[in-house]
Amino acid sequence: MDLLKNHVGGQWIAGHGDGIALRDAVLGNEVARVSSAGIDLPAAYRYARETGGAALRALTHAQRARLLADVAAVLQQNRDAYYDISMQNSGTVRNDSAVDIDGGLYTLNYYAKAGAALGQHSARTDGDAVSLAKDKAFQSQHVMVPTRGLALLINAFNFPSWGFLEKAAPAWLAGVPLVVKPATATAWLTHQMVKDILDAKVLPEGALSIVCGSSDGLLDPLSPFDVVSFTGSAATASVLRRHAAFADRSVRLNAETDSLNSAILGPDAAPGTEAFDALVREVVREMTVKSGQKCTAIRRILVPQAWYDETAQAIAAKLAKTTVGNPRNESVRMGSLVGRAQYDTVQAGLRELGGVCDTLFDGSGVSLVDADPAVAACVAPHLFGTRDADATDLVHDLEVFGPVATLMPYRDAAHANDLARRGHGSLVTSLYSADTAYLGATALDLADSHGRVHVITPDVAKVQTGHGNVMPQSLHGGPGRAGGGEELGGLRALGLYQRRAAIQASPDVVAALFPAQASDASSPPADRN
Ligand code: NAP
Repeated sequence: MDLLKNHVGGQWIAGHGDGIALRDAVLGNEVARVSSAGIDLPAAYRYARETGGAALRALTHAQRARLLADVAAVLQQNRDAYYDISMQNSGTVRNDSAVDIDGGLYTLNYYAKAGAALGQHSARTDGDAVSLAKDKAFQSQHVMVPTRGLALLINAFNFPSWGFLEKAAPAWLAGVPLVVKPATATAWLTHQMVKDILDAKVLPEGALSIVCGSSDGLLDPLSPFDVVSFTGSAATASVLRRHAAFADRSVRLNAETDSLNSAILGPDAAPGTEAFDALVREVVREMTVKSGQKCTAIRRILVPQAWYDETAQAIAAKLAKTTVGNPRNESVRMGSLVGRAQYDTVQAGLRELGGVCDTLFDGSGVSLVDADPAVAACVAPHLFGTRDADATDLVHDLEVFGPVATLMPYRDAAHANDLARRGHGSLVTSLYSADTAYLGATALDLADSHGRVHVITPDVAKVQTGHGNVMPQSLHGGPGRAGGGEELGGLRALGLYQRRAAIQASPDVVAALFPAQASDASSPPADRN
């Protein structure tokens, strides 16, 4: 089987040894191998910083935005191949592959457009100049300039396309070269995308490198102006945080980790209301899209205690209709987990939750379509329930990264919010109600502990973007357990890859920071988010 090469220092280089096998998630056969052994990472990073960084910094934001559009066009041309890889290596049905592949392209195109409006400068202002002296003769202007390091993107296995592109777009737009390290299990798709981009020669030399395989030594050559954008488990983030790159050399680290996200049915949303139906629909969608392997998926469902049983029945009835198995069969709605290792982890999680909860929908008896249960990484949905959510710590602590959620009753709105916070910081919570006063107050009350509060009233049922869908216009990330990081949120995302500095000077010098360009009618590029 092909050993996927690394692209470092401007060259394709094979790692030493046999490498690690990547497998078809349903059939189990090997699809590729990866190895990063023997790669000269210090030289690779120097090349990215010195060659790629210098080239990107020399471009204006508008020129970099053009690069993003060119990259998106290349990927668009090869889209069918990505769907094929995704079906094999991730075991996803077409709709679920789209979340990763088309979601990534959408994000790239969004930043291409937003960046074009940033104008003909390579740096940006951050707010207006403010006076430091009584007569305004001495001012302070904050500016954002690209960091002179590289961006190391360390990604999770569940989004080999979107995870790469949602980080790459703001990093390139900010003027920073990147080295991507995809999760080993699904590195094939990221590798193919990188190969297509490099073959098309649409980026400056050194702007894009890829290392596939073991992460051994990955952080050691990082230097103070580098940035690491990490997505993965809280356990790995904790290992990273202790590395000398961050502890001693102040390398910037953004961490997006796992999260026990919640959905809350409002006190007014009785069975039979539109809000009730919206929650049931959204929970089932979140549990089954990508087999529940989304960091934003709903893991905890909080409902008024009077409607606990009806909610359980409504969700279970829909889950029973989910066909699970080989994504090559068109009757299959939900494919597999990403591989057998993940299958074993999810089975262990099911046993743990099953030990402290009631089982409200048991997918273990579901027959798989066209898939061998001894080989395929398929797991049917499981809905658990606990009537005492205060005393059942595990449901707030254990993220089972599969089609799994737990239902729990609450006494009143304050109790619901307390339970939502038991996730110790989450990426997203969603609220379902027709009571706008309740929703406004609850959204603000939960904003401190959630990166995003997704509010569903009947009037937005058809246009809402989905609890688990991460839109580039909105912030992604969450405090505490969710990693404490921030991504996306429009042009706010560039801030991770740029350095803020205050220029203290006379008004004439401040005006000279961003001289008007012939093709740039606007005054200094504003920091629009
Ligand atoms: P993981 O095991 O933590 O791995 C994440 C990445 O870190 C992989 O590329 C992995 O490489 C790399 N890595 C592991 N140890 C490392 C080390 N010591 N130094 C540097 N890199 C290291 O997570 P995963 O299993 O791939 O992903 C699933 C988790 O990600 C879930 O918990 C999910 O909630 C979370 N997630 C969060 C978000 C979000 O935006 N918040 C999005 C998606 C997923 P190898 O694969 O080679 O080990």
